[in-house]
Amino acid sequence: MRCILFGPPGAGKGTQAEFISKHFSIPHISTGDIFRENIRNQTPLGIEAKRFSEAGNLVPDSVTIAMVRDRLSKQDCVNGFLLDGFPRTTAQADEFDAILRDLDTSLDAVINLVVPDEELVERLSKRGRADDSVDTVLHRLTVYHDNTKSLIGYYRSRGILCDVVGVGPIEDITAGILQALAR
Ligand code: AMP
Repeated sequence: MRCILFGPPGAGKGTQAEFISKHFSIPHISTGDIFRENIRNQTPLGIEAKRFSEAGNLVPDSVTIAMVRDRLSKQDCVNGFLLDGFPRTTAQADEFDAILRDLDTSLDAVINLVVPDEELVERLSKRGRADDSVDTVLHRLTVYHDNTKSLIGYYRSRGILCDVVGVGPIEDITAGILQALAR
């Protein structure tokens, strides 16, 4: 299973991604988690990423794409992967297609978790992470919508996008995702 999980910050992607990852025995690859880990460990990648990520902006494509290419070429990805937080721009989506071609494989599905903005602001302002102040949250949502609109359209036109309602009991959302992936 090779899939992407789309959803705005606060949509519950992390929780659902862990479940899908276990269910299909595939690694959950979250670019946000990888950046945060590198920032924590003050690696060269982390130092580069920090000034963008702390302001709620995207890390430059060149940095992000190189990181994903490296991660997807690891042995644990041969039977599939779940990408979370990538691609975020059309340039990343194009490069991702090239990476898949180079790996001689293709994408099975793209899950789009749909949650209204009002609900997201409420959830995120309760979470209290360093990049969760209300202004930063609103900025991240704007960036997310601006960037993903065309990506959603891109994958929808290829017939592999599945919208799943991301509001309600966690188990119901999980069931919706599994149903979509079974198609
Ligand atoms: P996330 O946890 O997915 O919301 O990501 C947290 C932060 O990491 C984002 O606000 C960006 O600064 C950075 N980031 C994560 N994924 C990407 C990506 N695909 N492209 C650029 N920046 C990213």
